Amino acid sequence: MNKKDTTCKEPRLVANWQTLTRTFIKPEDDASRAVLLKYMEQILFGLHDFLKKHVGITEEVSLKDLSNRFTDTIISKNPEKKLSDVITELIEDIAPHAVNVASPYFVGHMTSAIPFFMVHLKTLVTALNQNVVKIETSKVASILEKQVLAKIHRQIYKKDETFYNKHVQNARTTLGCFIKDGTMANLTALWVVRNSVLAPKENFEGVEKEGIRAAYKAYGIERCVIIVSRLAHYSLCKAGGVLGIGNQNIIAVDVDSNNRIDIKSLNKIIKEIKENKVKTEILAIVGIAGATETGTVDPLAKLGAICAENRIYFHVDAAWGGPTLMSEKYKHLLKGIELADSVTIDGHKQFYMPMSCGMVYFKDPSIMDSVIYHANYVNRPGSVDLGIKSLAGSREANSLILDGALKIMGSRGYSLLIEHGIETAGKFAEEIEKRPNFQLITNPELNILTYRICPFHIKQKLDRGTLEQKKMINKKLNKINSAVQRLQREAGKSFVSRTTLKIKNETEDNIIVLRCVIMNPMTNINILKEILDEQEEIYSKL
Ligand SMILES: *Cc1c(COP(=O)(O)O)cnc(C)c1O
Repeated sequence: MNKKDTTCKEPRLVANWQTLTRTFIKPEDDASRAVLLKYMEQILFGLHDFLKKHVGITEEVSLKDLSNRFTDTIISKNPEKKLSDVITELIEDIAPHAVNVASPYFVGHMTSAIPFFMVHLKTLVTALNQNVVKIETSKVASILEKQVLAKIHRQIYKKDETFYNKHVQNARTTLGCFIKDGTMANLTALWVVRNSVLAPKENFEGVEKEGIRAAYKAYGIERCVIIVSRLAHYSLCKAGGVLGIGNQNIIAVDVDSNNRIDIKSLNKIIKEIKENKVKTEILAIVGIAGATETGTVDPLAKLGAICAENRIYFHVDAAWGGPTLMSEKYKHLLKGIELADSVTIDGHKQFYMPMSCGMVYFKDPSIMDSVIYHANYVNRPGSVDLGIKSLAGSREANSLILDGALKIMGSRGYSLLIEHGIETAGKFAEEIEKRPNFQLITNPELNILTYRICPFHIKQKLDRGTLEQKKMINKKLNKINSAVQRLQREAGKSFVSRTTLKIKNETEDNIIVLRCVIMNPMTNINILKEILDEQEEIYSKL
Protein backbone atom coordinates (compact mmCIF):
# COMPACT_ATOMS: atom_id res chain seq x y z
CA MET A 1 0.00 0.00 0.00
CA ASN A 2 2.89 2.36 0.25
CA LYS A 3 5.02 0.96 -2.54
CA LYS A 4 6.40 3.98 -4.22
CA ASP A 5 6.94 4.29 -7.89
CA THR A 6 10.32 5.96 -7.64
CA THR A 7 11.56 4.65 -10.96
CA CYS A 8 8.79 6.24 -13.03
CA LYS A 9 10.33 8.64 -15.54
CA GLU A 10 7.24 10.58 -16.53
CA PRO A 11 5.54 11.48 -13.29
CA ARG A 12 1.78 11.52 -13.40
CA LEU A 13 1.66 14.25 -10.81
CA VAL A 14 4.05 17.14 -10.50
CA ALA A 15 4.80 19.54 -7.71
CA ASN A 16 4.95 23.09 -8.97
CA TRP A 17 4.25 26.50 -7.58
CA GLN A 18 0.88 26.81 -9.29
CA THR A 19 -0.60 23.58 -7.92
CA LEU A 20 0.98 24.22 -4.56
CA THR A 21 -0.61 27.63 -4.12
CA ARG A 22 -3.96 26.23 -5.16
CA THR A 23 -3.96 23.96 -2.09
CA PHE A 24 -3.65 27.02 0.13
CA ILE A 25 -6.44 28.98 -1.50
CA LYS A 26 -9.80 28.90 0.25
CA PRO A 27 -12.65 27.48 -1.83
CA GLU A 28 -13.98 30.60 -3.49
CA ASP A 29 -15.84 29.33 -6.51
CA ASP A 30 -18.58 26.74 -6.55
CA ALA A 31 -16.43 24.15 -8.26
CA SER A 32 -13.73 24.14 -5.58
CA ARG A 33 -16.35 24.15 -2.83
CA ALA A 34 -17.95 21.10 -4.39
CA VAL A 35 -14.60 19.31 -4.47
CA LEU A 36 -13.91 19.99 -0.80
CA LEU A 37 -17.40 18.87 0.17
CA LYS A 38 -16.97 15.69 -1.82
CA TYR A 39 -13.82 14.87 0.15
CA MET A 40 -15.50 15.54 3.47
CA GLU A 41 -18.34 13.26 2.45
CA GLN A 42 -15.86 10.61 1.45
CA ILE A 43 -14.30 10.78 4.92
CA LEU A 44 -17.49 10.83 6.94
CA PHE A 45 -19.36 8.13 5.05
CA GLY A 46 -16.35 6.08 4.06
CA LEU A 47 -15.36 5.71 7.70
CA HIS A 48 -18.94 5.20 8.70
CA ASP A 49 -19.07 2.01 6.67
CA PHE A 50 -15.89 0.81 8.29
CA LEU A 51 -17.23 1.48 11.76
CA LYS A 52 -20.35 -0.56 10.98
CA LYS A 53 -18.58 -3.50 9.39
CA HIS A 54 -15.61 -4.18 11.60
CA VAL A 55 -15.66 -5.00 15.26
CA GLY A 56 -12.83 -5.70 17.63
CA ILE A 57 -9.22 -6.38 16.80
CA THR A 58 -8.98 -9.11 14.24
CA GLU A 59 -5.93 -11.17 13.52
CA GLU A 60 -6.87 -11.48 9.84
CA VAL A 61 -3.67 -9.64 9.12
CA SER A 62 -1.03 -10.06 11.78
CA LEU A 63 1.02 -7.18 13.15
CA LYS A 64 4.02 -8.79 11.57
CA ASP A 65 2.42 -8.83 8.11
CA LEU A 66 1.37 -5.24 8.57
CA SER A 67 4.82 -4.09 9.61
CA ASN A 68 6.28 -5.77 6.53
CA ARG A 69 4.07 -3.55 4.38
CA PHE A 70 5.39 -0.35 5.94
CA THR A 71 9.12 -0.50 5.48
CA ASP A 72 9.76 1.93 2.63
CA THR A 73 11.58 4.96 4.03
CA ILE A 74 12.10 7.09 0.93
CA ILE A 75 10.04 10.21 0.32
CA SER A 76 9.22 10.37 -3.35
CA LYS A 77 10.35 13.43 -5.24
CA ASN A 78 7.13 13.89 -7.16
CA PRO A 79 3.64 13.80 -5.70
CA GLU A 80 2.42 10.21 -5.56
CA LYS A 81 -1.27 10.68 -5.05
CA LYS A 82 -4.07 13.17 -5.18
CA LEU A 83 -5.98 13.99 -2.04
CA SER A 84 -8.93 11.86 -3.12
CA ASP A 85 -6.59 8.88 -3.61
CA VAL A 86 -4.98 9.44 -0.24
CA ILE A 87 -8.39 9.52 1.39
CA THR A 88 -9.43 6.37 -0.46
CA GLU A 89 -6.24 4.64 0.66
CA LEU A 90 -6.84 5.67 4.26
CA ILE A 91 -10.40 4.40 4.13
CA GLU A 92 -9.75 1.19 2.26
CA ASP A 93 -6.26 0.15 3.33
CA ILE A 94 -5.60 1.76 6.69
CA ALA A 95 -8.92 2.05 8.52
CA PRO A 96 -9.80 -1.68 8.23
CA HIS A 97 -6.58 -2.48 10.09
CA ALA A 98 -7.06 0.16 12.74
CA VAL A 99 -8.97 -0.73 15.89
CA ASN A 100 -12.67 -0.08 15.95
CA VAL A 101 -12.77 1.47 19.38
CA ALA A 102 -16.35 2.60 18.66
CA SER A 103 -17.72 -0.94 18.70
CA PRO A 104 -20.02 -1.69 21.65
CA TYR A 105 -18.09 -4.98 21.92
CA PHE A 106 -14.88 -3.05 22.53
CA VAL A 107 -15.01 -2.77 26.31
CA GLY A 108 -11.35 -3.17 27.23
CA HIS A 109 -10.02 0.35 27.37
CA MET A 110 -10.75 3.96 28.22
CA THR A 111 -10.92 4.84 24.54
CA SER A 112 -14.34 4.35 23.00
CA ALA A 113 -17.02 5.70 20.69
CA ILE A 114 -17.40 9.48 20.52
CA PRO A 115 -20.53 11.43 19.58
CA PHE A 116 -20.52 12.16 15.88
CA PHE A 117 -20.63 15.92 16.38
CA MET A 118 -17.09 15.72 17.79
CA VAL A 119 -15.83 15.14 14.25
CA HIS A 120 -17.52 18.36 13.16
CA LEU A 121 -16.15 20.33 16.09
CA LYS A 122 -12.66 18.93 15.56
CA THR A 123 -12.84 19.86 11.87
CA LEU A 124 -13.82 23.38 12.80
CA VAL A 125 -10.92 23.72 15.22
CA THR A 126 -8.55 22.46 12.53
CA ALA A 127 -9.98 24.85 9.94
CA LEU A 128 -9.54 27.83 12.28
CA ASN A 129 -6.09 26.59 13.31
CA GLN A 130 -5.77 28.91 16.28
CA ASN A 131 -2.71 28.70 18.48
CA VAL A 132 -3.66 29.50 22.05
CA VAL A 133 -0.08 29.84 23.21
CA LYS A 134 -0.61 33.58 22.69
CA ILE A 135 -3.45 36.00 22.18
CA GLU A 136 -2.00 37.20 18.87
CA THR A 137 -2.78 33.85 17.27
CA SER A 138 -6.01 33.06 19.05
CA LYS A 139 -7.81 36.14 20.40
CA VAL A 140 -11.29 34.96 21.37
CA ALA A 141 -10.22 31.31 21.58
CA SER A 142 -8.01 32.15 24.57
CA ILE A 143 -10.84 34.07 26.20
CA LEU A 144 -13.26 31.23 25.63
CA GLU A 145 -10.74 28.80 27.11
CA LYS A 146 -10.75 30.77 30.35
CA GLN A 147 -14.53 30.60 30.42
CA VAL A 148 -14.64 26.81 29.88
CA LEU A 149 -11.99 26.30 32.56
CA ALA A 150 -14.17 28.28 34.96
CA LYS A 151 -17.20 26.16 34.08
CA ILE A 152 -15.46 22.90 34.97
CA HIS A 153 -13.69 24.50 37.95
CA ARG A 154 -17.14 25.38 39.26
CA GLN A 155 -18.26 21.74 38.97
CA ILE A 156 -15.32 20.73 41.15
CA TYR A 157 -14.95 23.54 43.66
CA LYS A 158 -18.39 25.19 43.71
CA LYS A 159 -17.02 28.60 44.64
CA ASP A 160 -19.49 31.47 44.70
CA GLU A 161 -20.52 33.86 41.94
CA THR A 162 -18.16 36.58 43.19
CA PHE A 163 -15.20 34.23 42.89
CA TYR A 164 -15.99 33.31 39.28
CA ASN A 165 -16.79 36.90 38.33
CA LYS A 166 -13.42 37.88 39.65
CA HIS A 167 -11.41 35.14 37.94
CA VAL A 168 -13.23 34.00 34.84
CA GLN A 169 -11.48 36.57 32.60
CA ASN A 170 -8.73 37.70 34.93
CA ALA A 171 -5.49 37.91 32.94
CA ARG A 172 -3.37 37.48 36.06
CA THR A 173 -4.98 34.39 37.53
CA THR A 174 -5.64 30.89 36.22
CA LEU A 175 -8.26 28.39 37.29
CA GLY A 176 -6.48 25.67 35.37
CA CYS A 177 -5.09 24.82 32.00
CA PHE A 178 -5.60 22.64 28.99
CA ILE A 179 -2.74 20.37 28.07
CA LYS A 180 -2.13 17.38 25.85
CA ASP A 181 -3.26 14.55 28.10
CA GLY A 182 -3.67 13.25 31.64
CA THR A 183 0.01 12.44 31.90
CA MET A 184 0.96 16.06 31.23
CA ALA A 185 -1.86 17.31 33.46
CA ASN A 186 -0.47 15.30 36.39
CA LEU A 187 3.02 16.50 35.52
CA THR A 188 1.81 20.12 35.46
CA ALA A 189 0.17 19.78 38.89
CA LEU A 190 3.30 18.26 40.41
CA TRP A 191 5.53 20.83 38.70
CA VAL A 192 3.45 23.56 40.32
CA VAL A 193 3.70 21.86 43.74
CA ARG A 194 7.44 21.31 43.45
CA ASN A 195 8.01 24.96 42.60
CA SER A 196 5.65 26.16 45.34
CA VAL A 197 7.27 24.04 48.02
CA LEU A 198 10.83 24.71 46.89
CA ALA A 199 10.02 28.37 46.26
CA PRO A 200 12.45 31.29 46.13
CA LYS A 201 13.48 32.66 49.52
CA GLU A 202 16.40 34.52 51.02
CA ASN A 203 19.61 33.57 49.20
CA PHE A 204 17.77 31.08 47.00
CA GLU A 205 16.09 31.82 43.69
CA GLY A 206 13.81 28.80 43.58
CA VAL A 207 14.06 25.23 42.28
CA GLU A 208 12.97 26.15 38.77
CA LYS A 209 16.01 28.40 38.42
CA GLU A 210 18.65 26.76 40.60
CA GLY A 211 17.73 23.10 40.24
CA ILE A 212 17.01 20.29 42.68
CA ARG A 213 20.43 20.08 44.30
CA ALA A 214 20.50 23.73 45.28
CA ALA A 215 16.88 23.53 46.41
CA TYR A 216 17.54 20.61 48.75
CA LYS A 217 20.51 22.46 50.16
CA ALA A 218 18.58 25.69 50.62
CA TYR A 219 15.74 23.89 52.38
CA GLY A 220 17.96 21.49 54.33
CA ILE A 221 16.26 18.39 52.97
CA GLU A 222 17.66 15.24 51.44
CA ARG A 223 14.73 14.06 49.37
CA CYS A 224 11.18 14.84 48.30
CA VAL A 225 8.44 12.24 48.06
CA ILE A 226 4.94 12.05 46.65
CA ILE A 227 2.55 9.57 48.24
CA VAL A 228 -0.12 7.71 46.30
CA SER A 229 -1.83 4.31 46.36
CA ARG A 230 -0.24 1.48 44.47
CA LEU A 231 -3.06 1.67 41.93
CA ALA A 232 -1.76 5.06 40.79
CA HIS A 233 -1.29 5.70 37.10
CA TYR A 234 2.33 5.40 35.98
CA SER A 235 2.28 9.00 34.74
CA LEU A 236 3.00 10.01 38.36
CA CYS A 237 6.24 8.03 38.22
CA LYS A 238 7.15 9.79 34.98
CA ALA A 239 6.53 13.11 36.71
CA GLY A 240 8.86 12.03 39.53
CA GLY A 241 11.54 11.38 36.93
CA VAL A 242 11.02 14.55 34.90
CA LEU A 243 10.86 16.81 37.95
CA GLY A 244 14.14 15.46 39.28
CA ILE A 245 12.58 14.04 42.42
CA GLY A 246 13.34 10.53 41.26
CA ASN A 247 10.56 8.07 40.52
CA GLN A 248 11.61 5.82 43.39
CA ASN A 249 10.34 8.63 45.60
CA ILE A 250 6.80 8.23 44.35
CA ILE A 251 5.75 6.15 47.32
CA ALA A 252 3.06 3.52 46.72
CA VAL A 253 0.80 2.87 49.69
CA ASP A 254 -1.06 -0.42 49.98
CA VAL A 255 -4.80 -0.53 49.27
CA ASP A 256 -7.63 -1.84 51.46
CA SER A 257 -9.98 -4.68 50.52
CA ASN A 258 -11.94 -2.23 48.34
CA ASN A 259 -8.82 -1.16 46.44
CA ARG A 260 -8.79 2.28 48.00
CA ILE A 261 -5.68 3.75 49.55
CA ASP A 262 -5.31 2.21 52.99
CA ILE A 263 -5.59 5.08 55.46
CA LYS A 264 -3.84 3.23 58.27
CA SER A 265 -0.84 2.45 56.09
CA LEU A 266 -0.84 6.02 54.83
CA ASN A 267 -0.75 7.48 58.34
CA LYS A 268 2.01 5.06 59.27
CA ILE A 269 4.09 6.11 56.27
CA ILE A 270 3.59 9.81 57.03
CA LYS A 271 4.70 9.19 60.59
CA GLU A 272 7.75 7.19 59.51
CA ILE A 273 8.77 9.88 57.04
CA LYS A 274 8.50 12.56 59.70
CA GLU A 275 10.64 10.54 62.10
CA ASN A 276 13.15 9.45 59.47
CA LYS A 277 16.73 10.59 59.88
CA VAL A 278 16.87 11.35 56.17
CA LYS A 279 15.12 14.70 56.15
CA THR A 280 12.26 14.24 53.73
CA GLU A 281 9.70 16.67 52.36
CA ILE A 282 6.31 15.23 51.42
CA LEU A 283 5.50 17.26 48.31
CA ALA A 284 2.00 15.90 47.85
CA ILE A 285 -0.48 13.15 48.52
CA VAL A 286 -2.36 12.05 45.44
CA GLY A 287 -5.87 10.62 45.62
CA ILE A 288 -7.27 8.71 42.66
CA ALA A 289 -10.83 9.29 41.47
CA GLY A 290 -11.28 6.33 39.17
CA ALA A 291 -8.20 4.11 39.24
CA THR A 292 -7.16 3.07 35.75
CA GLU A 293 -7.30 -0.65 36.49
CA THR A 294 -10.22 -0.94 38.89
CA GLY A 295 -12.14 2.34 38.60
CA THR A 296 -12.04 2.72 42.36
CA VAL A 297 -12.13 6.08 44.12
CA ASP A 298 -9.88 6.80 47.09
CA PRO A 299 -11.53 8.24 50.23
CA LEU A 300 -11.00 11.81 49.06
CA ALA A 301 -12.57 13.52 52.08
CA LYS A 302 -10.30 11.60 54.44
CA LEU A 303 -7.25 12.29 52.31
CA GLY A 304 -8.18 15.97 52.22
CA ALA A 305 -8.39 16.03 56.02
CA ILE A 306 -5.04 14.27 56.41
CA CYS A 307 -3.41 16.73 54.01
CA ALA A 308 -4.91 19.72 55.82
CA GLU A 309 -3.80 18.39 59.18
CA ASN A 310 -0.23 17.76 57.99
CA ARG A 311 -0.10 20.79 55.68
CA ILE A 312 0.56 18.66 52.63
CA TYR A 313 -0.52 19.52 49.10
CA PHE A 314 -3.47 17.41 47.90
CA HIS A 315 -3.76 16.43 44.23
CA VAL A 316 -6.61 14.34 42.85
CA ASP A 317 -6.07 12.33 39.71
CA ALA A 318 -9.59 12.31 38.28
CA ALA A 319 -8.39 11.77 34.69
CA TRP A 320 -10.99 9.04 34.41
CA GLY A 321 -13.62 9.74 37.04
CA GLY A 322 -13.84 13.56 36.88
CA PRO A 323 -16.94 13.81 34.69
CA THR A 324 -18.86 11.77 37.27
CA LEU A 325 -19.37 15.23 38.81
CA MET A 326 -21.87 15.89 36.01
CA SER A 327 -24.25 13.30 37.44
CA GLU A 328 -26.55 14.46 40.25
CA LYS A 329 -27.05 10.80 41.07
CA TYR A 330 -23.42 9.74 41.37
CA LYS A 331 -21.37 12.86 42.04
CA HIS A 332 -21.36 11.90 45.74
CA LEU A 333 -18.87 9.16 44.79
CA LEU A 334 -16.29 11.94 44.39
CA LYS A 335 -17.11 13.60 47.70
CA GLY A 336 -14.08 15.46 49.01
CA ILE A 337 -12.68 16.29 45.58
CA GLU A 338 -13.34 19.96 46.39
CA LEU A 339 -10.63 19.71 49.07
CA ALA A 340 -7.99 19.06 46.42
CA ASP A 341 -5.42 21.74 45.64
CA SER A 342 -5.45 20.47 42.07
CA VAL A 343 -7.45 18.03 39.95
CA THR A 344 -6.58 16.28 36.68
CA ILE A 345 -9.40 15.51 34.24
CA ASP A 346 -9.10 14.02 30.76
CA GLY A 347 -11.42 15.39 28.09
CA HIS A 348 -10.77 12.42 25.79
CA LYS A 349 -12.05 9.98 28.36
CA GLN A 350 -15.44 10.58 29.93
CA PHE A 351 -16.10 13.91 28.24
CA TYR A 352 -16.05 11.82 25.05
CA MET A 353 -13.77 14.26 23.23
CA PRO A 354 -11.52 13.19 20.37
CA MET A 355 -7.83 12.54 21.14
CA SER A 356 -6.42 14.20 23.00
CA CYS A 357 -7.29 16.68 25.71
CA GLY A 358 -5.96 16.79 29.25
CA MET A 359 -6.87 19.41 31.82
CA VAL A 360 -5.70 20.39 35.27
CA TYR A 361 -7.60 22.62 37.70
CA PHE A 362 -6.28 24.56 40.68
CA LYS A 363 -8.11 25.68 43.79
CA ASP A 364 -5.83 28.68 44.26
CA PRO A 365 -6.04 30.91 41.15
CA SER A 366 -2.54 32.28 41.79
CA ILE A 367 -0.65 29.05 42.37
CA MET A 368 0.38 28.72 38.72
CA ASP A 369 2.52 31.83 39.23
CA SER A 370 5.21 29.37 40.29
CA VAL A 371 5.58 28.18 36.68
CA ILE A 372 5.50 31.51 34.84
CA TYR A 373 7.70 31.90 31.77
CA HIS A 374 7.95 34.97 29.62
CA ALA A 375 9.48 35.48 26.20
CA ASN A 376 10.21 38.81 24.58
CA TYR A 377 8.30 38.31 21.37
CA VAL A 378 5.19 36.75 22.98
CA ASN A 379 3.81 36.04 26.40
CA ARG A 380 4.51 39.44 27.83
CA PRO A 381 3.79 39.94 31.50
CA GLY A 382 0.15 40.75 32.19
CA SER A 383 -1.18 39.58 28.81
CA VAL A 384 -3.79 36.84 28.45
CA ASP A 385 -1.21 34.72 26.60
CA LEU A 386 -2.02 31.26 27.89
CA GLY A 387 1.49 30.05 27.15
CA ILE A 388 2.84 32.07 30.10
CA LYS A 389 1.74 29.40 32.54
CA SER A 390 1.80 26.16 30.61
CA LEU A 391 4.13 23.28 30.03
CA ALA A 392 2.91 23.22 26.45
CA GLY A 393 3.95 25.68 23.80
CA SER A 394 1.81 25.80 20.69
CA ARG A 395 -1.48 24.03 21.06
CA GLU A 396 -4.91 23.74 19.51
CA ALA A 397 -8.09 25.40 20.79
CA ASN A 398 -9.46 22.24 22.38
CA SER A 399 -11.68 24.35 24.62
CA LEU A 400 -13.89 25.06 21.59
CA ILE A 401 -14.65 21.37 21.35
CA LEU A 402 -15.37 20.93 25.05
CA ASP A 403 -17.49 24.05 25.18
CA GLY A 404 -19.45 23.00 22.10
CA ALA A 405 -19.98 19.55 23.57
CA LEU A 406 -21.15 20.94 26.92
CA LYS A 407 -23.69 23.07 25.06
CA ILE A 408 -24.91 20.22 22.88
CA MET A 409 -25.11 17.71 25.73
CA GLY A 410 -25.89 19.80 28.79
CA SER A 411 -24.87 18.32 32.12
CA ARG A 412 -27.94 16.10 31.86
CA GLY A 413 -26.63 14.59 28.62
CA TYR A 414 -23.29 13.75 30.20
CA SER A 415 -24.95 12.41 33.31
CA LEU A 416 -26.99 9.99 31.18
CA LEU A 417 -23.74 8.59 29.81
CA ILE A 418 -22.15 8.38 33.26
CA GLU A 419 -25.22 6.71 34.74
CA HIS A 420 -25.46 4.23 31.89
CA GLY A 421 -21.83 3.20 32.45
CA ILE A 422 -22.10 2.80 36.21
CA GLU A 423 -25.42 0.99 36.09
CA THR A 424 -24.49 -1.34 33.25
CA ALA A 425 -21.27 -2.20 35.09
CA GLY A 426 -23.40 -3.03 38.16
CA LYS A 427 -25.63 -5.37 36.15
CA PHE A 428 -22.59 -6.95 34.57
CA ALA A 429 -21.10 -7.64 38.01
CA GLU A 430 -24.35 -9.38 39.03
CA GLU A 431 -24.24 -11.50 35.89
CA ILE A 432 -20.63 -12.50 36.57
CA GLU A 433 -21.51 -13.55 40.09
CA LYS A 434 -24.40 -15.65 38.78
CA ARG A 435 -22.16 -17.67 36.51
CA PRO A 436 -20.28 -20.54 38.16
CA ASN A 437 -17.37 -20.24 35.73
CA PHE A 438 -16.45 -16.73 36.79
CA GLN A 439 -15.18 -14.90 39.83
CA LEU A 440 -15.74 -11.17 40.28
CA ILE A 441 -12.47 -9.65 41.47
CA THR A 442 -13.27 -5.96 41.85
CA ASN A 443 -16.82 -4.74 42.25
CA PRO A 444 -17.46 -1.70 40.06
CA GLU A 445 -17.59 1.55 41.97
CA LEU A 446 -17.67 3.57 38.78
CA ASN A 447 -17.86 1.81 35.43
CA ILE A 448 -14.77 -0.40 35.50
CA LEU A 449 -14.71 -3.93 36.83
CA THR A 450 -12.35 -6.89 36.86
CA TYR A 451 -13.07 -10.59 37.04
CA ARG A 452 -11.56 -13.86 36.02
CA ILE A 453 -12.47 -17.27 34.81
CA CYS A 454 -12.45 -19.51 37.86
CA PRO A 455 -14.78 -22.51 37.52
CA PHE A 456 -16.78 -23.56 40.56
CA HIS A 457 -14.78 -26.72 41.35
CA ILE A 458 -11.56 -24.72 41.29
CA LYS A 459 -13.11 -22.02 43.45
CA GLN A 460 -13.86 -24.68 46.09
CA LYS A 461 -10.26 -25.86 46.02
CA LEU A 462 -9.13 -22.26 46.33
CA ASP A 463 -11.25 -21.89 49.46
CA ARG A 464 -10.06 -25.05 51.14
CA GLY A 465 -6.56 -25.73 49.87
CA THR A 466 -3.26 -25.19 51.62
CA LEU A 467 -1.30 -22.04 50.86
CA GLU A 468 0.90 -24.04 48.51
CA GLN A 469 -2.11 -25.43 46.63
CA LYS A 470 -3.73 -22.01 46.38
CA LYS A 471 -0.61 -20.57 44.83
CA MET A 472 -0.51 -23.40 42.30
CA ILE A 473 -4.14 -22.85 41.39
CA ASN A 474 -3.66 -19.11 40.92
CA LYS A 475 -0.75 -19.83 38.61
CA LYS A 476 -2.89 -22.14 36.53
CA LEU A 477 -5.77 -19.65 36.47
CA ASN A 478 -3.37 -16.95 35.30
CA LYS A 479 -2.45 -19.08 32.30
CA ILE A 480 -6.10 -19.78 31.53
CA ASN A 481 -7.22 -16.16 31.76
CA SER A 482 -4.30 -14.92 29.79
CA ALA A 483 -5.07 -17.44 27.01
CA VAL A 484 -8.79 -16.72 26.94
CA GLN A 485 -8.21 -12.97 26.72
CA ARG A 486 -5.78 -13.41 23.85
CA LEU A 487 -7.94 -15.87 21.92
CA GLN A 488 -11.01 -13.67 22.28
CA ARG A 489 -9.08 -10.65 21.04
CA GLU A 490 -7.71 -12.58 18.09
CA ALA A 491 -11.16 -13.87 17.14
CA GLY A 492 -11.98 -10.21 16.52
CA LYS A 493 -15.58 -10.07 17.69
CA SER A 494 -15.07 -8.46 21.06
CA PHE A 495 -12.32 -7.02 23.19
CA VAL A 496 -11.78 -7.14 26.93
CA SER A 497 -8.38 -6.14 28.32
CA ARG A 498 -6.37 -7.82 31.02
CA THR A 499 -4.21 -6.65 33.86
CA THR A 500 -2.47 -8.05 36.92
CA LEU A 501 -3.73 -7.30 40.40
CA LYS A 502 -2.28 -8.28 43.74
CA ILE A 503 -4.95 -10.30 45.51
CA LYS A 504 -5.87 -9.26 49.05
CA ASN A 505 -5.58 -12.56 50.91
CA GLU A 506 -2.89 -14.67 52.51
CA THR A 507 -1.47 -15.79 49.15
CA GLU A 508 -0.66 -12.19 48.15
CA ASP A 509 -0.57 -13.59 44.62
CA ASN A 510 -0.45 -11.47 41.52
CA ILE A 511 -3.46 -12.63 39.58
CA ILE A 512 -4.31 -12.02 35.96
CA VAL A 513 -7.77 -10.54 35.62
CA LEU A 514 -10.04 -9.54 32.76
CA ARG A 515 -10.86 -5.84 32.77
CA CYS A 516 -13.95 -4.14 31.38
CA VAL A 517 -14.46 -0.42 30.94
CA ILE A 518 -18.07 0.38 30.16
CA MET A 519 -18.43 3.80 28.59
CA ASN A 520 -19.95 3.17 25.17
CA PRO A 521 -23.68 4.00 25.42
CA MET A 522 -24.35 1.21 22.91
CA THR A 523 -22.82 -1.41 25.19
CA ASN A 524 -25.65 -3.10 27.07
CA ILE A 525 -26.04 -6.10 29.32
CA ASN A 526 -26.96 -8.40 26.43
CA ILE A 527 -23.73 -7.59 24.63
CA LEU A 528 -21.83 -8.19 27.86
CA LYS A 529 -23.55 -11.55 28.29
CA GLU A 530 -22.49 -12.47 24.77
CA ILE A 531 -18.92 -11.55 25.71
CA LEU A 532 -19.09 -13.87 28.74
CA ASP A 533 -20.63 -16.64 26.62
CA GLU A 534 -17.76 -16.36 24.20
CA GLN A 535 -15.22 -16.52 27.02
CA GLU A 536 -16.88 -19.63 28.42
CA GLU A 537 -16.82 -21.23 25.02
CA ILE A 538 -13.14 -20.41 24.50
CA TYR A 539 -12.36 -21.78 27.96
CA SER A 540 -14.25 -25.00 27.38
CA LYS A 541 -12.16 -25.64 24.26
CA LEU A 542 -8.83 -25.02 25.98
C1 LIG B 1 -5.76 7.69 31.72
C2 LIG B 1 -5.25 8.08 33.04
C3 LIG B 1 -4.11 8.89 33.16
C4 LIG B 1 -3.26 9.28 31.99
O1 LIG B 1 -3.92 9.96 31.03
P1 LIG B 1 -3.39 10.04 29.53
O2 LIG B 1 -4.36 10.96 28.92
O3 LIG B 1 -3.43 8.64 28.99
O4 LIG B 1 -2.01 10.57 29.56
C5 LIG B 1 -3.73 9.28 34.42
N1 LIG B 1 -4.42 8.88 35.50
C6 LIG B 1 -5.52 8.10 35.42
C7 LIG B 1 -6.24 7.71 36.67
C8 LIG B 1 -5.97 7.67 34.17
O5 LIG B 1 -7.03 6.86 34.09
